[in-house]
Amino acid sequence: MTKKSISFLLLLCIYSFVNAGTIKIVTTTTDMKSIAELVGGNKVSVSSIATGYQNPHFVDPKPSYIISLTKADLFVTVGLDLETGWSPQLLSSSRNTKIQKGAPGYVDASAGVNLLQVPSAANRAEGDIHIFGNPHYWLDPLNGKIIARNIANGLERVDPGNKSFYETNLQTFFSRIDIKMKEWQTKMAPYKGSKIIAYHNEWVYFETRFSLQIVDFMEPKPGIPPTPSQLVKVIKEVKSNNVKVIISSPYFTTSSSDVVAKQTGVKELTMATSVGAFDSIKDYFSLFDYNIDQLTTALR
Ligand SMILES: [Zn+2]
Repeated sequence: MTKKSISFLLLLCIYSFVNAGTIKIVTTTTDMKSIAELVGGNKVSVSSIATGYQNPHFVDPKPSYIISLTKADLFVTVGLDLETGWSPQLLSSSRNTKIQKGAPGYVDASAGVNLLQVPSAANRAEGDIHIFGNPHYWLDPLNGKIIARNIANGLERVDPGNKSFYETNLQTFFSRIDIKMKEWQTKMAPYKGSKIIAYHNEWVYFETRFSLQIVDFMEPKPGIPPTPSQLVKVIKEVKSNNVKVIISSPYFTTSSSDVVAKQTGVKELTMATSVGAFDSIKDYFSLFDYNIDQLTTALR
């Protein structure tokens, strides 16, 4: 046996040892992945199906996603109807009984979240994709604590032997959020009540937490692309409300916001809706660092 093949075997042994007993988590989005990594620490390996610069409502299913779900011990979904178009099909194709809805390895991260914009009746007739309430709740950092609690509960169900480890990490996550919240609130305080237009209705939790005022959306309804009559309406609103900025996300085209900006002089800003939207956003904390820096600069 050559030196090279011996060292390869050694590496293989180390790799299998490190991975033995590791809880494999698959999340639908990168925000869930980041929080799962913070709670799970070195006891878990986590992969996300969607990237941070992808629209989480619309993800093309790939066979590789099914393969990772087949091997997963825990599945974490944002829930409501955020991933309705893709994740239930992937989950059932995996045939992994450990992570199906209702099984110990299934985590709906929305459990216990105080939902906003819950319609009186679920109705998809007009193409609306927020029929159970607004599903973009991870954009309030305090909801991050609820997500973390739900993930810890899931981990403790599938790996009860490490319960105290997960509980300690959870408490560390809670205190980090509390410390950062003070910093974020201080930075945002001068911009309370600032009027904003958003492309898609995905900022209501962020808006509520930081006392902003989203006047309207480029989309006439969530998931329906901007129409000429919506642009006319938005241009009027920008002028009459002294709107300072239109916020969008990496996966929307700027052509319609460009029209409004040209007509009114309003600023355009692409914010990050998820971890990994831009290279500097490595975790759930830097997601808010980035957005708050960008937004306060634009509103200054
Ligand atoms: Zn949405």
